[in-house]
Amino acid sequence: MQMYSEADVDTSCLNDRQVTVLGYGSQGRAHALNLKDSGFNVVVGLRSSGASWAKAEADGLTVKEPVDAVKGAAIIAFLTPDMVQPELYDSVLKEIGDGATLLFAHGFAIHFKQIEPRSDLNVVLIAPKGPGDLVRRQYKEGHGVPCLVAVHQDAAGDALKLALAYSAGIGGARAGVIETTFAEETETDLFGEQAVLCGGATELIVAGFEILVKAGYQPEVAYFEVMHELKLIVDLLHEGGLRKMHEYISDTAAYGDLVSGPRVVDAHVREQMQLILDEIQDGTFARKWIAESKAGMPEFRRMMNADLEHPIEKVGAKLRSRMDWLEG
Ligand code: NAD
Ligand code: MG
Repeated sequence: MQMYSEADVDTSCLNDRQVTVLGYGSQGRAHALNLKDSGFNVVVGLRSSGASWAKAEADGLTVKEPVDAVKGAAIIAFLTPDMVQPELYDSVLKEIGDGATLLFAHGFAIHFKQIEPRSDLNVVLIAPKGPGDLVRRQYKEGHGVPCLVAVHQDAAGDALKLALAYSAGIGGARAGVIETTFAEETETDLFGEQAVLCGGATELIVAGFEILVKAGYQPEVAYFEVMHELKLIVDLLHEGGLRKMHEYISDTAAYGDLVSGPRVVDAHVREQMQLILDEIQDGTFARKWIAESKAGMPEFRRMMNADLEHPIEKVGAKLRSRMDWLEG
């Protein structure tokens, strides 16, 4: 494994050069503000009709329409939703200067060939392993969120150097930057969020809730057991892995984990997880998501509404409103 730290990075390659951040959502805001505080010349590219424009200006940033924002930029970071990036690339292409560097925080658009970049451009990935608010908060506290770096196209011979300089600007190099490929980042990121983090974990929570409620237990008690307390376990895992969790939970919980966990995630579940990975790798998932996005996302909305209308959401909202120490 190749890991870079601040000592390996020379940010002087970006001195007096413009870094353009397209999009001002979770990642965009964090990157733009961190880069500015690191002394870089930052321009944010947004639609003047969009809601983020006023927010970026209020944060003290220079904001322009995307087509103007990319003019003269050494690095152009595509931090809009993945499904928007191809159209955005087409709309600004004629203004992107020779030898500029396109930067992505997730490899989807490049790996699945939704964007086939001009051959004179560098194409790199700096993917922070955390949401934008953490990237911003850690930076302000003098730390950083670890990043992945990859080079897809090295037209000018300086792609890795520029990517690392950018990673230092957002604070990532303080924590370490691990070399990967667009394929590895895209496929593992999709698998993680689908099978384990977002998809797997939420489905496990909802199933646990439904089974307890169906068995006659109070929904409030079920909510605490299967959703609320998950945070305590995740924090222990995040801080110290399986060992720390086992140190802090009771022997009864540990024994129950060891004998029952493998019965939940059994051979059938593992087969399904493997299928999910196969469909990510062979492009099936990407094709479906792109088609859904192009169709205006009717299925996405239907499934999202069903998720948000589940009884666990009503019980949860009621209980959380009494815990005023929770960030809502
Ligand atoms: P987001 O949905 O939070 O923000 C999107 C931003 O893009 C908004 O400011 C929106 O106004 C703007 N936008 C939308 N359409 C636009 C257009 N046509 N022109 C200009 N601006 C437009 O997005 P995000 O979650 O920060 O994701 C950005 C990228 O970062 C994606 O590639 C994503 O996969 C990646 N990423 C996200 C996270 C995360 O935690 N959210 C983590 C790692 C990587
Ligand atoms: Mg779910």
